[in-house]
Amino acid sequence: MQKLFSSVGRHEWDLPLGYIPDMRVSGRLFLSDSLFESLEEGAVRQLANVATLPGIIGHSFGMPDIHWGYGFPIGGVAAFSEEEGIISPGGVGFDINCGVRMITTPLSVSDLGSREDIIGRLYQQVPTGVGSKSAFRLSASALDDLLALGSKWAVSEGYGLPEDCIRCEEGGYMKEAAPENVSEKARKRGIPQCGTLGSGNHFLELQVVSEIRDHEAAKTFGVKEGNVCCMIHCGSRGLGHQVCTDHLKTLEKATKKYGITLPDRQLSCAPLTSPEGESYFGAMAAAANYAWANRQIITHQVRTLFESAFGISPSEMPLVYDVAHNVAKWEMHTIDGSDKRVCVHRKGATRAFGPGRPELPEIYQRTGQPVIIPGSMGTASYLLAGTETAMEKTFGSTCHGAGRVSSRKEAKKAVRGAAVSADLKKQGIIVRAPSGDAIAEEAPEMYKSSDEVIRVVHEAGLSRIVARMMPLGVIKG
Ligand code: 5GP
Ligand code: MN
Ligand code: MN
Repeated sequence: MQKLFSSVGRHEWDLPLGYIPDMRVSGRLFLSDSLFESLEEGAVRQLANVATLPGIIGHSFGMPDIHWGYGFPIGGVAAFSEEEGIISPGGVGFDINCGVRMITTPLSVSDLGSREDIIGRLYQQVPTGVGSKSAFRLSASALDDLLALGSKWAVSEGYGLPEDCIRCEEGGYMKEAAPENVSEKARKRGIPQCGTLGSGNHFLELQVVSEIRDHEAAKTFGVKEGNVCCMIHCGSRGLGHQVCTDHLKTLEKATKKYGITLPDRQLSCAPLTSPEGESYFGAMAAAANYAWANRQIITHQVRTLFESAFGISPSEMPLVYDVAHNVAKWEMHTIDGSDKRVCVHRKGATRAFGPGRPELPEIYQRTGQPVIIPGSMGTASYLLAGTETAMEKTFGSTCHGAGRVSSRKEAKKAVRGAAVSADLKKQGIIVRAPSGDAIAEEAPEMYKSSDEVIRVVHEAGLSRIVARMMPLGVIKG
């Protein structure tokens, strides 16, 4: 695969125009030599397919955690011009605003006591699994407010601290949300699931900060070596999935209506300025807000449990940040020397805005935004900071995880859940999940090396390592 690319910088590769017909821009992939070994041809093809979309600016980007996805590759980033660009659900993903947040605690590992006990209690507190329902009751009218205001709604209802919102991308909600574009079917799925983790890849993990690489930024982010922290990964549950399904139908028609030719039907899209495009954008933003509220309510559940288990108050468990890794957003970027408003799709990719960006809260103006990248339930996760280089090279974007090497199906054939959890237990990592398959699908060896993926984004300058965290125990969806 590597032969197809030409080297254009440190870990930076160009997939030339003409790799497939009708590419409007070239592909840009950030990868090390060793990561090229697991690069799928299908993902490269998808990178090229995205490059054919109308109004794409710069390049079709692939992050080092790239793998095959629906339409766009996972680990894909593309920016589109306001005038000629499109919006595509395939560039956002089915789990709209799937994302990660990180909370710190003043506890050290020994303060936790029995790891089995605390993980067991978290497992009781936070519902997990495919169709899991919440103990928390949401009324139909409250859902409208939640869809409009995301985390801000959750905090106003008492599920969090006022400062939580400013520590979320977008302040915890996208103001473009149009709850009226969210179907009845999507709402029905969303109401009982709010405050649940969901299935498979989603998790709630206790970690210990094992190493600090950037002491100044770590201080600003409130992260100390040896302290226990909590990482939450989940998204918009059935509601977001249904929004994607509903709008794919209308966008498939719109693609034809606006005369857009596609190399792959999964890239269904519509001009950003069309009614169909705007309708999806509004529904997507509402689903994104659902995801923020969801992560906020789960945060509240964790803080409540820790308060009763360890006697620490919620304010002693501040949010470091909350990042979205499946979303499309309007942003200002400097292109050929002038400022332009563009719609950036990040699908399995994380915003990594550098210092001085107006979107960042005052506290992170000097450091750049915190970037939270999970590894796996057996390997390191990372906290990084956004950079100037990311602003220049990738529309302020970086990777979102280690990225899968084996599909879920392959994983279930290769390993047994019970063996995976026994192995992790030997390393002191406690796993709780609704089924053995859920654990097998997520075995650490089904993912690329997070150390290697993070080395690439750090050395390519797309984000800067601040701290490394190791898992202590995890509840999987
Ligand atoms: P995705 O959003 O693509 O499903 O997953 C994001 C990333 O989360 C994956 O690429 C993987 O690196 C990471 N991940 C998956 N499961 C776990 C887990 O249990 N713990 C941690 N720390 N990371 C995980
Ligand atoms: Mn997700
Ligand atoms: Mn995710």
